[in-house]
Amino acid sequence: MTAECAAHEGTPATGSCTRCGRFACDACLDGRRPGWCSACANRPGARLEVSGRAKVVLFLSVVGVMLPPLALVGWWLGRSTQPLEADEPLLRGARWLQWTALVLWGLGGVLWFGQR
Ligand SMILES: [Zn+2]
Ligand SMILES: [Zn+2]
Repeated sequence: MTAECAAHEGTPATGSCTRCGRFACDACLDGRRPGWCSACANRPGARLEVSGRAKVVLFLSVVGVMLPPLALVGWWLGRSTQPLEADEPLLRGARWLQWTALVLWGLGGVLWFGQR
């Protein structure tokens, strides 16, 4: 799977925006602001702050690796929220952690019960 440009579907990404972190293609990165994607170049003043909710989701996911029920809560919160632009990398990381927790605990459960 190759990364696609966030703005141009089907166009392989050649890098990521240094501002928002989204994948971008050559056309996007060579815009008015080198290293920035076209979305960021179009609104340089847009605030890129992470919402408190996304931080909670990430926190729950980190703790959730040890305590899976919290990962579930984080997953639910992450799903029910409309993410801000700046939240995306955070939520992506949180989702990855949630999956890791799920797989680890799933494997642990299989091994545990397999021994009996
Ligand atoms: Zn950007
Ligand atoms: Zn593009």
